[in-house]
Amino acid sequence: MTAPLWPDEVRYSRQMRFAPISEDGQRRLAEAHVAIVGLGALGSVLADLLARAGVGRLRLIDRDFVEPSNLQRQPLYTERDAEQSLPKAVAAAAALGRVNRSTAVEPVTADISARNAEALLGGVSLILDGTDNFPSRFLLNDVAVKRGIPWIYGGAVASRGVTLPVIPGETPCLRCLYFVPPEPGTGETCDTAGILAPASHVTASRQAAEALKLLAGRREAVNPRMVHFDLWTGEHAELDVSSARNPDCPACGRRQFEFLHAGADGERTAALCGRDAVQIVPSAPLRVDLGAWAARWASLGRVERNPFLVKLHLSEEQRLVLFPDGRMLVQGVSDPEDGLRLYRRYFGE
Ligand SMILES: [Zn+2]
Repeated sequence: MTAPLWPDEVRYSRQMRFAPISEDGQRRLAEAHVAIVGLGALGSVLADLLARAGVGRLRLIDRDFVEPSNLQRQPLYTERDAEQSLPKAVAAAAALGRVNRSTAVEPVTADISARNAEALLGGVSLILDGTDNFPSRFLLNDVAVKRGIPWIYGGAVASRGVTLPVIPGETPCLRCLYFVPPEPGTGETCDTAGILAPASHVTASRQAAEALKLLAGRREAVNPRMVHFDLWTGEHAELDVSSARNPDCPACGRRQFEFLHAGADGERTAALCGRDAVQIVPSAPLRVDLGAWAARWASLGRVERNPFLVKLHLSEEQRLVLFPDGRMLVQGVSDPEDGLRLYRRYFGE
């Protein structure tokens, strides 16, 4: 943490004038340590709002890099970030460093998984969901319930959004409400439905408002309902889920954290929402020499490289993006098997 440029009463005057925050709440914000998982449409707004609010430490976790199609709704990133294919965690940390030098930002470029989730999230006071998929949210839910850390679910698609705070021991957890993750491909996702920036901004703002209540020590003000809204039609619904706590819930009832104990054998592959891309994660993190791979791949197609990744253009549509831990995004394929085949041909055994 760097010494603040201005006293809190100056910098945060408007926020501190808001009685429920005041001096005490502001001090608590400065002491808070928050993890934001996913730095896309929701996470980049969350990170910006919390850094500006004066949250002391932000751990920013994202597996991706900035692309041109992100700029429509992800306010931390610039055209230059997209041109350089900077990892979102790196670009976000740089942007936040210009916003509030007193916020200690911990950028982590990684895919959150059963293997690393507890290490990445264990010590924080609050977890914010900026992911775009249910398996990741169930994993966050398991860590949060196991460690007694509140977390705030958020989702946005098309012109709609949904939010729900989960306070372990008090409110229903995500598995009380959805026993299993909805099947990928059911329901609209960002592939088919697109997304309007106002919908993701409002969703993230609602999450951030609940976060400020919790972080400022105003637990009693938290809205425990599941809020659904549609900015296009004007619909708004708040679902009272207070009676949904399930004593038989595998997570908060029986404390069997199945998503944390998911098998980790072999490579994991997953098709990425709305990306026409597949991610492959090796069975154990590797230490990859990006320079060596850039040289090896140079005869196969155009190679781009920055300190955080190497990109090989196999064709107009297909690109391989390799990270230092051996993780790869295969762009231009949607079938995980096709992705794995390319991973093995160009990188694997
Ligand atoms: Zn539960």
